[in-house]
Amino acid sequence: MSAKGDMCYAWTKDAGIKGECGGAVTSLLKYALQNHIVDAVLTVKKGVDIYDPQPAFITDPKELDACAGSLHCGTLLLPKLIMKYLDGAKDMKVAVTVKGCDAKAMYELAKRGKINMDNIFMIGLNCGGSVTPFTARTMILEKYGINPDDVVKEEIDKGQFIVMLKDGTHKGISIDELEEEGVGRRLNCQRCETKIPRQADIACGNWGVFGEKAGKATFVEICSEKGAKVFDGAVKAGIIDTCAPEAKGLEIRGKIENVMVKMGKKNQKKQFDALGYGAERLEFMQKESSRCIKCYTCIEACPICSCKDCMTKDPNFVIPGRIPPNFMFHMIRYAHVAPSCINCGQCQELCPMDIPNALFMHAMQTEIQELIGAQKPGYDMTQSPLAYSEDKKDSGFVFIKMP
Ligand code: FAD
Ligand code: SF4
Ligand code: SF4
Ligand code: SF4
Repeated sequence: MSAKGDMCYAWTKDAGIKGECGGAVTSLLKYALQNHIVDAVLTVKKGVDIYDPQPAFITDPKELDACAGSLHCGTLLLPKLIMKYLDGAKDMKVAVTVKGCDAKAMYELAKRGKINMDNIFMIGLNCGGSVTPFTARTMILEKYGINPDDVVKEEIDKGQFIVMLKDGTHKGISIDELEEEGVGRRLNCQRCETKIPRQADIACGNWGVFGEKAGKATFVEICSEKGAKVFDGAVKAGIIDTCAPEAKGLEIRGKIENVMVKMGKKNQKKQFDALGYGAERLEFMQKESSRCIKCYTCIEACPICSCKDCMTKDPNFVIPGRIPPNFMFHMIRYAHVAPSCINCGQCQELCPMDIPNALFMHAMQTEIQELIGAQKPGYDMTQSPLAYSEDKKDSGFVFIKMP
């Protein structure tokens, strides 16, 4: 019997599953659906090409084989679809594959009573980051000198973004190099610290699969009792095989996770510093937001925004029919969303006017957390954008007076 915290290598025994690593994720989903542990699976499948991820709602277990593999240029966030189209899983048990940001979004919606967690089974995917379809195509053409349509598969491995071509060759470029040149992973992914989604029932990945099983097995970490039960059931049914992880593999996985988390924190500092602080930041936010066309996409996409009556539609606050909207439109969002922002990047990625919404929100979330929560020794609160100063007093923000 497995238990929370257990780790192993696992691989499918189903020859029809061509998984990213060991195919354990597809096997577990299939097992859960075939045995009526869930009524449906919500996952991601390839659309017209590898840069076109599409949500897949599946009730026939046979259809899961076609979803196997990872789409790193897939930036979908699945939980809001459960709220919008599956009635928050009120009357239906759903298994869903989740990156760290998906898992956090699920809990945020559950906290707001929009998703019934009793009916959700989450299989987490470790996540080094994702690239937007547009960036992926542009960078493959310009930096790799390759026609993006000749790429049959992409992966992020050993710090490189690697593309595999139709003719069997491959080419990799270091992520650091790509990001220094302004391409590579999404900016929010560069800031992300949730690399192994232990908020899910099971967390799966390739980090730590070492030795003869490298590339052939999935690294599985059991994260809940529910996860242990489904995993044990699949092993007992003979659907997946397992073995103990190599000691060296465990060490490597731990080290990679630490390095990635440190990189996330470093990128947060770099990107937040670039916004400036205090009045300088406020001015920058106002300037950027002045491009807003009030299309509501950021609200539609955000997993924190789920109110029936949105205050941005109240004429007492936001003047109707005016584009760009008065800054109060954005202030309402900052006040309502920033404290819970999970840095999923949706509000920025989908904004037709390229307003760095997620960056603003994540900066505020991190700084509010620092101010309200455990204040780190050495943190200079007077440098916080929430700190009161005379030059900001008429800006419309509520600032905190420092002792
Ligand atoms: P499979 O049996 O191939 O099943 C994979 C499942 O994931 C399928 O159901 C598929 O529909 C679903 N899926 C594919 N793309 C997405 C997506 N974008 N969002 C949600 N679901 C999706 N592992 C690491 O150890 N280190 C990493 O840095 C890392 N980065 C990743 C980045 C992304 C964007 C993704 C999607 C995955 C990443 N993984 C990473 C996880 C790894 O690639 C495999 O998904 C995992 O090891 C499971 O392998 P498998 O063979 O068991 O999965
Ligand atoms: Fe992965 Fe984090 Fe980016 Fe989400 S925000 S896609 S979990 S790196
Ligand atoms: Fe995601 Fe943006 Fe909402 Fe934050 S504010 S949770 S980044 S959509
Ligand atoms: Fe404005 Fe962009 Fe939000 Fe649309 S998505 S309302 S343009 S900030």
